[in-house]
Amino acid sequence: MVNATWIGTPNYEPGRRGQRVDHITLHIMAGFLAGTDATFQDPNRKTSATYGIGANGQIHQYVRETDTPWSDGDWLANATGISIEHEGGLPQARCTRACMDASAELCADIARRHGWKKLWHDGLNGNIYLHREIPGTDHTTCPDLAPNGLDWQYVVNKANELLSGKPAANNTANTIKKEIDMGTTHIIFNCGQKVYIANIIAGTFQHMKTMNEVKTRKYVLEKSGQKVKAWKEVVGKKANDYGQVKPDDLLAFGIEVK
Ligand SMILES: [Zn+2]
Repeated sequence: MVNATWIGTPNYEPGRRGQRVDHITLHIMAGFLAGTDATFQDPNRKTSATYGIGANGQIHQYVRETDTPWSDGDWLANATGISIEHEGGLPQARCTRACMDASAELCADIARRHGWKKLWHDGLNGNIYLHREIPGTDHTTCPDLAPNGLDWQYVVNKANELLSGKPAANNTANTIKKEIDMGTTHIIFNCGQKVYIANIIAGTFQHMKTMNEVKTRKYVLEKSGQKVKAWKEVVGKKANDYGQVKPDDLLAFGIEVK
């Protein structure tokens, strides 16, 4: 089982009216996890979801999987679905890689428990629904068409990797987590034409204007007991330069490169 924190909600229907769960509906919060907690706990809002996932990958559960969430704006979709909300969907609310990775694990877990060999989206014929496709909904951008919307294809692909038993593709967030476990505190990398030193513990970074500045900074950090690595050492290649990193990769770890 995936680790989820129970939050609860008064907004649900006990049981499934005899229906069988046959899909997961993906949503975007158009906001943050804390706001979603508050909305779902307000009995006047009459809305909920089975799960909500925050930017750091924390999973909140509001409705038991055996009960019906009030999420999709359609009773049959609700009665036959498990719904997952994702933080993001606003210019100031990003749908992060950590959130989507957690979603993939949760989707894979649900699939395993329901005997689904894989996840696929095909309108309302697959076992992955997108909220905007459910007839009657006015949430026309949920989950993927909102600004900072959900990359549902990424979630489905990654969940299917997990289900197939193949090792999941090496992604940046996992790579950095592993480095932190090994004691690395800073990573030097290229992004575009620029060189940066990221403090991977604090999630901050500095732009280095010259190679001398890089060397000096590395020396000072190592002198003070920090462990500094070049990106290529982190991903397993010995090299003199640092290796390109995409801004999106670092966003997954809360490091924003502008
Ligand atoms: Zn939705």
